[in-house]
Amino acid sequence: MRIIRDPTELRRQVAESRRRGESVGLVPTMGALHEGHLSLIRAARDENDLVVVSIFVNPKQFGPGEDFDAYPRDEERDFEFAKDAGTDVLYAPDASVMYPEDFATTVAVAGLTEVLCGSPQSRGSGHFRGVTTVVCKLLIASAPDRAYFGQKDAQQVAVIKRMVRDLDMGVEIRVMPIVREPDGLAMSSRNAYLDVEQRKLASHISRALRVAEQELEKGAEIGPALDAASNVLAEAGLSPEYLEARDPDSLEPVDHLDRRPVLFAVAVGVGPARLIDNFIFDPLRQRSAQKVPAMQGGSTR
Ligand code: AMP
Repeated sequence: MRIIRDPTELRRQVAESRRRGESVGLVPTMGALHEGHLSLIRAARDENDLVVVSIFVNPKQFGPGEDFDAYPRDEERDFEFAKDAGTDVLYAPDASVMYPEDFATTVAVAGLTEVLCGSPQSRGSGHFRGVTTVVCKLLIASAPDRAYFGQKDAQQVAVIKRMVRDLDMGVEIRVMPIVREPDGLAMSSRNAYLDVEQRKLASHISRALRVAEQELEKGAEIGPALDAASNVLAEAGLSPEYLEARDPDSLEPVDHLDRRPVLFAVAVGVGPARLIDNFIFDPLRQRSAQKVPAMQGGSTR
């Protein structure tokens, strides 16, 4: 595995692969790698000749007062994990390389970045401007055939797909299922912020989604399914930042089931961590694309 810290060097390395007729897959991450990230790297390994993984804690996607400074960083551990999962090129640029002092360009997707995590009551749309700007830079520097993202960040997936389509970037966006802890909690680098009690509380988030999913499978409409999830959270003493049903692509609100899949998305603050989770329900199949799993014993922490 080669470690590269400079976009020119990354471009050179990718061009060399291209000359040999190789395909290229990119997995963008912020490090603190866990099984969720590794599932993306393994998928990229299966589908491409050259696997590029980026590790960059992107200051532009953290708002003031958010956890940029506290965000877990451990390069050595991440490099080992990335290598073992099949990474060929690890791209870990410094912030000063990504954003020189006179950096002046922003890539922004309107509309669907202003709801859910992008609403003013949540992280705000500035978060997604940070995401689209950095992902655009990473896609330009690595020029991959495919880029890998997790369904865990459902809104990010919708935003990136829109950016790639709107800007004719010609990269295939591959979306991988949510990897969960045994008790159902979606894996996240931010789970490391939770103490034992908070970690137990956090398991109610996926449980709430599972209850909503079960209601839908029994034939319930969107409103009652959301109410059922909301009750689970309330009983656990958790109040969601949002708990909403939306179109998975446009992120427009959806009130009633018809033939289209519906994204059920939740964000909840648990202690110092802001956690998100979701599932997509497909009315035609009367089930979710990826079921929220039943709890299997305790957590792994
Ligand atoms: P992050 O390092 O949190 O920015 O995440 C990097 C990529 O890993 C994003 O595409 C995430 O959606 C994905 N990811 C994070 N957690 C999970 C998970 N539990 N399951 C699947 N993908 C994940």
